[in-house]
Amino acid sequence: MRVLVLGSGVVGITSAWYLAKEGHQVTVVDRQPGPALETSYANAGQISPGYSSPWAAPGVPVKAVKWLMQDLAPLAIQPKLDGTMYKWMMQMLANCTEAAYQINKARMVRIAEYSRDCLRELRQDISIPYEHREQGTLQVFRTQKQLDGSLADQAILKEAGVPFEVLDANGCAEREPALAHVKHKIVGGLRLPGDETGDCYKFTLALADECAKLGVEFKYNTSIDGLDLEAGDISGVQTSAGKLTADRYVVALGSYSPMLLAQIGIKVPVYPIKGYSLTLPLIDESRAPVSTVMDETYKVAVTRFDDRIRVGGTAEITGYDLSLPEKRRANADFVVSDLFGGGGDLSKAEFWTGLRPMTPDGTPVLGKTKYKSLFLNTGHGTLGWTMSVGSARYLNDVINGRTPEIDSEGLGVERYAR
Ligand SMILES: Cc1cc2nc3c(=O)[nH]c(=O)nc-3n(C[C@H](O)[C@H](O)[C@H](O)COP(=O)(O)OP(=O)(O)OC[C@H]3O[C@@H](n4cnc5c(N)ncnc54)[C@H](O)[C@@H]3O)c2cc1C
Repeated sequence: MRVLVLGSGVVGITSAWYLAKEGHQVTVVDRQPGPALETSYANAGQISPGYSSPWAAPGVPVKAVKWLMQDLAPLAIQPKLDGTMYKWMMQMLANCTEAAYQINKARMVRIAEYSRDCLRELRQDISIPYEHREQGTLQVFRTQKQLDGSLADQAILKEAGVPFEVLDANGCAEREPALAHVKHKIVGGLRLPGDETGDCYKFTLALADECAKLGVEFKYNTSIDGLDLEAGDISGVQTSAGKLTADRYVVALGSYSPMLLAQIGIKVPVYPIKGYSLTLPLIDESRAPVSTVMDETYKVAVTRFDDRIRVGGTAEITGYDLSLPEKRRANADFVVSDLFGGGGDLSKAEFWTGLRPMTPDGTPVLGKTKYKSLFLNTGHGTLGWTMSVGSARYLNDVINGRTPEIDSEGLGVERYAR
């Protein structure tokens, strides 16, 4: 079959890889000059099934008010005349009940755990360089209240069979030796030894090369403007390079998926949640993390690459805005200096922003649509890299008419119709 994959972020490229391996004739279309140049470019670098939880959780509405007022706030909201923004926020609030959280978390864990296993298999199949490490991730708590509050998460991890370790400050410093210098600032941590790290951009770039070896064609610098309908199905894609046609179409446009889909009557509540990152050149290994350290107070993740440190965080609700206000780098600056001062050169840090394609329930939108030839792989939000490989393999099974290896309950767009 001829398949058009719309979008060359990590989600589009992983989709293209599985489809091409299956023997399909795949073309990837993207407005950028290469793969992973939007949200997949400089994320926090975590493959973290252990942290795959929806942001919509019990207690979050109260915490959100606190975060908004906190110095170095992990959350910011820029009020706008944008009905979609408010509707999405209301949908997210509606998901903050205990019952919804349990359902959504279970769906995310299902995809994320599967995705990590698929990634391990992918690495056995092909060798792709992306500075990956398999040394787990460590969430550090600065207060006893945070450590006590993690008991609920520990119970969920136990139930889901995800291995974890609860550490005191010394234990944290054993796992992350640079933290020995700041042990007095930490009361403890929660470590997830099964988590991995790496550079999502390098991963996607290398996988796109593997796709090319399998015959995938890439149409870059091409904007996607609309989907044509004929006799109740998709008959082509309108692009800046003219109309493109195929037997199957995959929408993997990240935060921009809803606009295209709305034109043909498919409502997908994906909204952009802006985040920021800094990338610092490494200067002193002994002061740098060995893997990812997540500072619970500021919701900032600090990840070690080979000779760089990536610092990612902040959730800003401000629509499709890619500006880089200096004030927004303050909490990343603070956390990396406070925990890993001297590890990287902050004066040479690259400042970046990306729009997380978030659904209000945290789970991506995968699978079939009301149009026979149109499929979705979008809405991966906070953990899109973590969930990408499994989502792509799942979608490949759906497109090929096979029963996916994980339960499809609650993963499709039909869950919003209820
Ligand atoms: C600060 C930050 C930290 C993060 N940290 C992590 C992390 O540690 N681990 C993790 O798993 N996830 C993380 N994420 C989330 C993750 O990066 C995203 O979920 C993921 O990159 C989304 O991938 P995507 O392919 O769906 O979207 P994108 O990478 O945005 O790809 C969509 C593609 O569609 C193209 N496109 C869109 N509209 C059009 C159009 N009209 N015409 C042509 N092309 C179009 C774009 O050019 C783009 O290439 C983080 C995100 C941010 C912002």
